[in-house]
Amino acid sequence: MLTDARVYAYSAVLMGSPILLKLFEHNETLAGQVFRLIKQQENLFTVNRSGSEVMAINQAAGQHPVVVSQPVFDLIACAHAVSLLPDSRFNLTIGPLVKCWKIGFQGHSVPPAEKLQACLALTNPHDVILDPASNSVMLAKAGMEIDLGAIAKGYIADRVQAFLRQQGVNSALINLGGNVQTVGSPEEEASPGWAIGLKKPFGTADALIGVIHVADKSVVTSGIYERYFELNGVCYHHILDDRSGYPLDNELLSVTVISDRSIDGDIYTTLLYGMGVEKGIACLADSPAIEAIFVTRDKQVICSSQRHFSFSLLDADYRLAY
Ligand code: ADP
Ligand code: MG
Repeated sequence: MLTDARVYAYSAVLMGSPILLKLFEHNETLAGQVFRLIKQQENLFTVNRSGSEVMAINQAAGQHPVVVSQPVFDLIACAHAVSLLPDSRFNLTIGPLVKCWKIGFQGHSVPPAEKLQACLALTNPHDVILDPASNSVMLAKAGMEIDLGAIAKGYIADRVQAFLRQQGVNSALINLGGNVQTVGSPEEEASPGWAIGLKKPFGTADALIGVIHVADKSVVTSGIYERYFELNGVCYHHILDDRSGYPLDNELLSVTVISDRSIDGDIYTTLLYGMGVEKGIACLADSPAIEAIFVTRDKQVICSSQRHFSFSLLDADYRLAY
């Protein structure tokens, strides 16, 4: 499909999310290869259908280790390491809680407290036993479930970026339902980079707070407005607190991370969500390659720094704070 002078946009719905690929040449074959790659990767990681390697681990919980392929082992090892960081709210064993709430999958009620407590007993990342010698993963307790929903898209976005580069593409963008990964800059003269919209929380589908300009970077947003339900004035969203069993409750509406790798963007959006603005900014002071934009309930937009992107505010309801 031709959208403007030279950009060709290809779309599909995969992993329950709209996927958009932008190229600067008309190349259906390449687009087809990208969508197939995404599908094939999703089949390794999904926990919503049997047959994936991650499902095999979950089904053997409390019984025996499962040998998995190298990429699946590596992604689980990475998610495990992040889960064990001090004060990390990222938890790869969040599966039982996610299933209990069913947020984004017809869940519209608050589960009973006893049920949430029972789930919490099954979400200790120390109960994941990894053996790099055999590439096997064992969940120590029956009922435990790994959920890679917070990072699979980032991992896959990086795979797509590597594939496009390997195919000789110098300029492209892939948007995996909120995970944007780019190759180079748009092929335009004097381009300020890719313009990536920062969504207005709870706004109409195309309402933006502002625009982020980047080149050769990943831009990942995680927001409470993406998947949620409301009950008695409370918004129950899909990023869960592994201490309480309830959605993480702080001043944030969304966190956007700008980084080279989309997997880092995914890891940090969840980590920073768990930290809140103050601790989040302090944490990023030590990682100059990772930058974030926090959007708060009191309508502030806070950038950790702007070394690798520029941001233009569009919505007068929000104000930039530093
Ligand atoms: P999306 O881009 O689909 O909105 P996110 O990257 O924000 O997803 O991650 C949310 C998903 O991560 C949830 O749907 C769930 O599968 C999983 N998840 C929820 N809470 C946690 C948590 N505390 N740690 C790790 N993963 C989580
Ligand atoms: Mg994420």
